[in-house]
Formats: sequence, structure tokens, C-alpha cells
Amino acid sequence: MFRFQRKVYLDNNATTPVTKNVRKKINQVLKRYYGNPSSLYKIAINSAIELEESRKTVAKAINAEVDEIIFTACATESNNTVLKGLAEISYPGKKKILSTPIEHPSVISTLEYLKAKGILVEYIPVDRQGIIEFESLKELVDEDTFLICCMFANNELGTIQDIKKISALAKKYHVPVFSDCVQALGKIQVDVKDLGIDYASFSGHKIHSPKGIGALFVKEGSPFQSFMHGGHQETGLRAGTEALHNIAGFAEGCKAINLQKSPQVLSKKTLLINELKKIKSDIKINSPVDECLPNTVNITLPGVSNSLFMATLDFYGIAVSAGSACSTPENKPSPVLKAIGLTDEQARETIRISLSEFTSYRDIKYTIKVIRNFLSEAALPVNILTPKQLDENLIFGENNYILDVRWRYERKLLKGLPNSNEAPFVTFRKYYKQIPRDKNIILVCQAGYNAPVVAFYLRSKGYRKVSFLMSGLIGWKFVNAELYNKIAGQNITSLKPV
Ligand code: PLP
Repeated sequence: MFRFQRKVYLDNNATTPVTKNVRKKINQVLKRYYGNPSSLYKIAINSAIELEESRKTVAKAINAEVDEIIFTACATESNNTVLKGLAEISYPGKKKILSTPIEHPSVISTLEYLKAKGILVEYIPVDRQGIIEFESLKELVDEDTFLICCMFANNELGTIQDIKKISALAKKYHVPVFSDCVQALGKIQVDVKDLGIDYASFSGHKIHSPKGIGALFVKEGSPFQSFMHGGHQETGLRAGTEALHNIAGFAEGCKAINLQKSPQVLSKKTLLINELKKIKSDIKINSPVDECLPNTVNITLPGVSNSLFMATLDFYGIAVSAGSACSTPENKPSPVLKAIGLTDEQARETIRISLSEFTSYRDIKYTIKVIRNFLSEAALPVNILTPKQLDENLIFGENNYILDVRWRYERKLLKGLPNSNEAPFVTFRKYYKQIPRDKNIILVCQAGYNAPVVAFYLRSKGYRKVSFLMSGLIGWKFVNAELYNKIAGQNITSLKPV
């Protein structure tokens, strides 16, 4: 949201910047190959050729046959397609899917949807680093199982599963295996033949390619059913005109995969971990050492709120992400962190750092410096208020100015504090000039994630007395239920941009 001088992007598992070559390729395709790949005249033939060349490139990157690749709009679509399609083909003859509790939400939500339709979904337990308990899988798989769904590498922890071993077991029961390989591609070897899997999903934007493009590997002869109805694109397996520029961009990203760079990425990650251990000896590394993506580390910092930590890093231009799903209005900790045994409190002290081949030693050293200053409490520029501290005296105090930076939908879920002034988080810089400089500014958001970011922003704009409410209005209501019922929603001012 707010720019700081230096930019260090350490959230490459969320998405990656598009490289110059990929951008060039996309522009070229948009300019030259505007014909619909399914049309039959000369202008379109080149589009069809480009499409098939891209398919070849993607297939080669994962050691699949060309005909085994279907382009989709994203990995979420690929995941939905396999799970729903197989359920439709198999049910009610067979009823069971086995999966893990640390899958991406695009898998977990689909499984929960299928559960509501009568499919039996069983989750294989994982250990404290997210590795599945193979013995439990052996006990759970049976004649009624129609799919084992297990991601290759986890997005929050970096944990890599032994997919080959899972496939070998599955074969004994003639159960197909589906693996979400989104985070693995570009970071570790993905060889679908060697892994012995039947289905796999991929996403362009995790490998420096554009967003909105996915691929689905379907092993030749495997049962398949799409839930998209329409034209005959993708040999009738996925309706909808292909987004050729994105597909070609994805293929360009696949071409650039160079796993020889992985040891360098790993050594930068190791430097970061070792330095962090020196700065704070009680940090807990949740990612495994060996069975882990070279770029990913998940860390719990006891006693440190991840929202404040992230906001501080953001203030210094460093992007990392919370281990918990900070965007949910319920402020629920990440199910992945819960599945590996973290408490709610630990989950709120957890962050994920994910590097890329473009992360430099300079970036890492800068990050270490910022973290060292933050953890040694070298004067935090903003003040933190707990829900208990924010009592009626503070709320109605004449010298205080309450600023509510929640999203519009969040305001519908919870009433605001009395006397508060509302301004939207994303476009905040259009509003801040009217905020009085002589008052104590108290920033409030829904769950305690956005308020610190705005607090730091105001500090950078010269505001001297800035506080934010820890855990947001959700936490405040929880602690002050009676007060909330008595005073929330009174005398609220909606600020206008200036
Ligand atoms: N699977 C995993 C493991 C992911 O990390 C992601 C993206 O965060 C997805 C699936 C969804 O990918 P897409 O954004 O292409 O839908």
C-alpha cells in the first residue's frame, strides 16, 4: 500500500514478479497472435501453432506428454476440476477421498463442498513439520477410496511430501493420485512420470509468469470430467477460448526454470535463519530442514505479534506474509499452522518468508538489520493499545482521535467505535491530510492487521502521537462485549477524500 525507499520482496509463495522476457513474450503474442486458435483461417493458424508450442514447453517442464496438458484459468480451477470431476465419476460406487489438512484452500474448500454432497473426506494427519503420517495413510486407504489428494510442496511451510511413496501405495489399491504441484514447480524437480501421479495442478504466477493462467496434467487414459460446459477447446476437455498471451507467458516462465540456482536460494535462506537465531534464540522454525522448498521458511517469534512485525517490515519496504489467514474477517489462525500443532497464540506470532532466485544477499542483510532493530526494540515509532486499555476514558478522551480504517464489508459485520472517523485502508493517502496533528491518533481495523500499516504511514508523514488497537475490533468486542453493546456505532463520521 505505502511505498518506502527500499523494496525487498520476500513473499514469492504468494506470487512472483513477471520477468522481462515473459512480459516481452506476452506483448508479442497480444500483438501478433490475436486470431482465435480454434478458427480455421491463416491469421488464426499461427495462434494455434503458438498454443501447441506452449503446451509442448509446459509438458517438457514436468516431463509429461503434450496431450496430457490442459490449460485452465488458474490452479484453483485445476484443483476444482479434478476433485469435483472425479467425485462425479466415482460416486456413489466409491465414496472416499483421502487428503491432508494442510492443502491449499482451493483444495480444502472443494473437499468440504464435496463432503456436504455425501463424499467421505478423510484427512491424513501430519507431524509438527507438516509431513504426512504414512502409517495413517496405509490404514485409511481401502477399496472405497477413489482418490488420494496430496500436495507436493506446502505453500506456508515449504514442506515437501514423498509423493512417490504415496503413489506406490495407491497403485496397490488402484487408487489414482492427484498432487497440487503449484509451489513445487520452479523450485524443485517436478517429474510427473517419476512421481507416478495421475493428476497435477500448476499455476503461472508462481514462476514469474502472469496471473490467471493454470495448467492441469491428466495422465493419458485417466478418467476425467470437466465442470465447464461450452466450446470444444483443449480437445473438448476445457471449454473457453484459450488466453493465449497468458499461456505463452506461462510457457516462457517454464523455459526459464533453472534449478541450478536453488542452492544459492537455499544458502540465502540459511543465512537469514542463522542470523535470526542469533538475534532471538527462542525462535521456532516450523519448516523442515531437509524436506523443504529451498526458498521457504516459516517462523514463530514468541511474544511478537505478527501483525506488528509485518507492519514494521512493510514500513521499511520489506514484504513478508503472516502464517495466519489475516484476510479472514473472523481472524482465524491458519488451519495449516493448527494442523502442525501450533496454538492460536503461536499462529499469531508466525510469519512466512519466501525468497526467489532474484533475492540478493543485500536484500537478506537489509532484512536482518531491520529485524534486529525491531526485536531489540530500538524505539518502536508507534504505540500499541490492547483491547482492555482502550476503555471509555480513551474512547471519549478529548485529545484522542479514533480513525477506523476498515473495509466496507467489515463495517457491515461489526459496528465501529463511538466517535470514530472512517477512512478506507487502500486509498488512505487521499484522506490523511484532514487528520489533526495535535491529537493522539488511535488506529482501529477489523482484526489488527491493517491498523499498524496505517499507523506507520502516519508516523512517516510526521504525526507524532500514533497508536493502534491490537487484535482490532474483533478482539475489542470479545474483551468488552457489554461496552460494545452499549456504545458501538454511535456518532461515526465518514471522512471524504481531500
Ligand atoms: N495451490 C497452492 C499450493 C497455492 O499456493 C496456490 C496459490 O496460492 C494455489 C493452489 C492457487 O493458485 P491460483 O492462484 O493459480 O488459483
